[in-house]
Amino acid sequence: MRLLVHGGTVVTSDETRRDDVLCEGGRIVAVGKIGDTAGVDEVLDADGLLVFPGFIDPHVHSRDPGATHKEDFAHSTLAALCGGVTCVLEMPNAIPGVTDADGFNERRRYLGERTWVDFGLWGLSLGAENVDELEGMVRAGAVAIKMFWGYSLARDTKELVYNPGDFPDRDVIPPFDTGDLYVTMREMVRLGAVLGLHCEDKAILDAALCALGHPISTYQDLLDARPSVAEAAAVATAAEVAGATGCRTHIVHLSSADGLRAVRAALVAGRPISAETCPHYLQLTGEDYDTVGPVMKVYPPVRDHADRTALWEAIADGVITSVGSDHGPHTMAEKLAGLARAPAGVAGVETLGVAIVDGMLEGLISPQTLAGVLSTNTAAIFGLYPRKGAIKPGADADLTLVDPSGTTTVTASDLHSISPTTMFDGRTFRGAIAASVLGGRVAMRYGQPVLERSGRFVSGKGSARHATGR
Ligand SMILES: [Zn+2]
Repeated sequence: MRLLVHGGTVVTSDETRRDDVLCEGGRIVAVGKIGDTAGVDEVLDADGLLVFPGFIDPHVHSRDPGATHKEDFAHSTLAALCGGVTCVLEMPNAIPGVTDADGFNERRRYLGERTWVDFGLWGLSLGAENVDELEGMVRAGAVAIKMFWGYSLARDTKELVYNPGDFPDRDVIPPFDTGDLYVTMREMVRLGAVLGLHCEDKAILDAALCALGHPISTYQDLLDARPSVAEAAAVATAAEVAGATGCRTHIVHLSSADGLRAVRAALVAGRPISAETCPHYLQLTGEDYDTVGPVMKVYPPVRDHADRTALWEAIADGVITSVGSDHGPHTMAEKLAGLARAPAGVAGVETLGVAIVDGMLEGLISPQTLAGVLSTNTAAIFGLYPRKGAIKPGADADLTLVDPSGTTTVTASDLHSISPTTMFDGRTFRGAIAASVLGGRVAMRYGQPVLERSGRFVSGKGSARHATGR
C-alpha cells in the first residue's frame, strides 16, 4: 500500500513548508515534491490543509478493564481517532491497577484487541510498596510510571479511592508521601525511565477544605478547597527531589500560574522536569461554570483568566512542552451528583486537537509549537521519538491533517465516548481536523472513521530523549 499525501503544508516542530509525503508499508518513505504518482495506490489531496505529525494524547484514562459502564478502550480510542489523535498513552488506573509486569502484559494483550489507534501504556507506582516491580514494567515497554501523589489506593484492586472517609471499612494504601517519592525516583533513575506526577500537596488540600468550614457547594468553594499553592508547593518539592536523584519527572495537568512559576524556577535551576497542561485549562476559566455546569469538575480545577493566559504563554515560550487531554469521563448522572460528591474527570481525547488548533489560529502559538506539544515533544518525553512525532523517512506514517479555514462546533452527543461528558458542548472552535493517516492508511475524515479498526502497541523502550522546557 502506497499512499501519497499531496499538496499540503507540512508542519513539524522545526519548520513549515509545502511538501508531499509518501507512505509505504506503514512508514514514511519520502518527503518533498513528489510529482510521479506511478505505483501510488491512493492520493490524499491535502491542498489547503496543514499536515502535522500524528497527534499523541499522553494522558488518557479509559479505565478498561474496570469502570466500563462509563468508558472503555474501544470507545476512547475511536474518539481519539475521530479527533485526529493517532496514538494514545493509556493511564494505569484500570481495575485492577497495573502494578507489575504480569498485569502490564495482560493489559497490553487485552487492549490490543480493542484499539482503534496505536497505544502505549503507563505503569502504576504504589510508592515504596511496588518499587521492586517498576523494572518489570519498564522492561515490558511502559512509556512511563505514574504516581498519583497524594491519593489513596484500595489495597485489593489498587484502584484510586478519592474520598477514603466515605469507605471507612475499606483497606487503603495511604497517600504517598515525599519518602515514597524519594525511593521511587531513585529507582526510576536506575531504570532510565520517566516518572509522571500528579502535583497537588495533600496536606494543603486537607487544610484548605478544613478552612472552608463547610462542604463544597459552589464553584468558588471548589477553588478555595484546591488552591493553586497546593500545586506550586508540590511542583517545587518534586523538582527538588528530582534534582537530587536525577529522576526525569513529568508534571501532568499543570493548571495554574503559581504552579507554572515553580516549573520555571525548577528549569532555571536545571532540574530534570517537564510539564503538561490540558485543553480545559487553556480554553475555560472558573467563570464558565455558570454555563458549563457540573461537568466542569476536574482535579486540579479550572481556574481564572490569569492562569489561562500564563499557560498559553508557557506553551509559546517552551516551558510547557506537552498537552494531554486527561480524558477520564464519568456518566452524566455521576457528574450531576453535586460539586462535593461528583467525581472529577471529563471526556477530552476527541476535542484535544481542535482545542489547541483553535489557540494556534487565534495566534497564541505557532504551528511549529503545536506540532511540538501535540506530537514531537510528547513522543520524545515518552521514548517514542523518532518512530512517532516525526515527518521524515523511517517514521511511522501517522499524520493529522488540519483545515485552518474550517470551524468545529462540538456537540456532546456526536462524540464517540460512552459518556461524552465534555466541557465544550456547544462551543465552536476555529479550524477542523480534516483527516488522519494511521500506519500509512487514511483512517479518519472529518470526525468519522473510514478504515476498519487497527492500531498497535508501541513500546517506550529505547532512546528516550527528554524534552525539558528551556
Ligand atoms: Zn489524569
